[in-house]
Amino acid sequence: MTPTQSPSPARRTRGPTEERILEALDVDGMVEAARELVRIPSVSGEETPAQEFVASLMQAHGMDVDRWVIPMEEVGAHPAYGAEVLRRDPLGVVGTWAGSGGGRDLILNGHVDVVPPGDASLWHHPPFSGLVRDGRLHGRGALDLKGPLVAGIFALDAIRRAGVTLAGTVHLMSVVGEEDGGMGTLAAILRGYRAHGAVVLEPTELAVAPAQAGCLSFRIRVAGRAAHGAVREEGVSALEKLIPVYRALQSLESERNRRLSGDPLFGRYSIPFPVSVGTVRGGDWASSVPDRVTIEGRMGLAPGEDPEAARREMETAVAATAGQDPWFREHPPGVEWWGGRFLAARTDPDDPLVRTLHGAASDVLGREVAVEGMPYGADMGILSQVAGIPTVLFGAGDIRRAHRPDESVSVDELADMARVLALATLRFCRPSA
Ligand SMILES: [Zn+2]
Repeated sequence: MTPTQSPSPARRTRGPTEERILEALDVDGMVEAARELVRIPSVSGEETPAQEFVASLMQAHGMDVDRWVIPMEEVGAHPAYGAEVLRRDPLGVVGTWAGSGGGRDLILNGHVDVVPPGDASLWHHPPFSGLVRDGRLHGRGALDLKGPLVAGIFALDAIRRAGVTLAGTVHLMSVVGEEDGGMGTLAAILRGYRAHGAVVLEPTELAVAPAQAGCLSFRIRVAGRAAHGAVREEGVSALEKLIPVYRALQSLESERNRRLSGDPLFGRYSIPFPVSVGTVRGGDWASSVPDRVTIEGRMGLAPGEDPEAARREMETAVAATAGQDPWFREHPPGVEWWGGRFLAARTDPDDPLVRTLHGAASDVLGREVAVEGMPYGADMGILSQVAGIPTVLFGAGDIRRAHRPDESVSVDELADMARVLALATLRFCRPSA
C-alpha cells in the first residue's frame, strides 16, 4: 500500500455497533482530562505525578491498572536502554482491558514526559496552562503527547460505554522517558507486555505511519591550542579545526541519504535521515584563541540499518578528514556516542494492523488517509525491534508544533483520533462473541 493507492480494500461502511461507539465518545470528558494532565508539569525525569494521574484516569474508566516502580538495574543493563536524565524510582503504568478471548491483542502506547518549555516569555500562554482557546489545547505536552494519550484512554472508554466487550485484550502503556530514549517502553516490554499489534500515539496528522527513522546522538571534541588573541598565530584555533570536520559530516549526510533513500514511505523528505548538529560549545574568553570546541548532534538512521555500521561510517569519515591535517595526527577529534538514541523501524504496510488502522481512519475521516513514514524517532523502535510487535505511529497534530513555544493541538483532531482508535481497536481485537 502506498500513499497514492486507493481506495483501500480495508475500507468499508460502518455498522450499527460502530456508529454506537462513535456516538459514545465523551469529548468533553476527554478534553477536561487532557487539560488536567497538561497542567501537571512532567519534564523528563519528573514524571511521577503525571503517571499517578494517568493511572487513576485509567482506573476511573474501567481498566485494570498495573503500576510499578521500574527496576533500573535490570532496564539499564538492556542493550536497547537509552536515557539522558537520571531517574529515581520511575513509575511504569499499564492499563489493561481484558478481552473475552479469541481476538487479537493490541497495545496503545503514549508518553507523559515532556521536553522543557524553554524561555517562558516566548509563549503566549504560560507553558503548563492547559488552556483551550480557538479550538486548541495549549501547553507543553498538549500535542506531544498528553492530549493523544488521553485520546487513547477515551477511545477505549467509548467502546465500553457503548456496551461492547472485546475478544482481544488491550494494554494501554503510559510511559516515562520517551523523549530521552524510550526507557519507559523498554521497561513495559521487559515486564512482559506483548500483543499482535501496537499503536504509538505520536503526531502523524492522522496519517498511518508504519515506519520511523531512528537516530543516534553523537559528540565530537576538537582540540586546539590556546594563545592570546593578539598573537593568535601562536595558537591553534579549535574553531578553525572544526570546519573540515563539520564539512565531513555534511558530505556524510549527502552520501548516506543518496544511498539510503528510495523507500516510498519516506518519499516526501529530501533528507529523510539527517546528520544535524544541535549544540556548539567552545572557547572561554573573547580575546583568547579557543583551545577546544565540542559539538553534539544526531544522526538519522534508516529502517533496517545496523546502528553499529552507521556509527563506524561517521567515525571513518571524521578519521579520514583528520588524516589530512598534521595537527589532528597529534590531537585526533574523537567521536563519542552518548545519550538518547532511537531505533529505526518498519512494519509491512500489508500487516493487518496497518490495514485495519488505515481502513478505520479513512472511514472516520471520510477521505483516503496517507500511509507514510515519519522522519523522527519514537518508541516504535522498541516495540518493533526489541519486542517484535508490528507497530505503527498514529496520532493527532503535526510534530512541527512540538518541542517549541506555543505547543498546541486541535481539540477536533484529538476527537477524530479517539474515534479512529475506537473503530480500529474494535476491528482489530474484534467484538466478543
Ligand atoms: Zn512524543
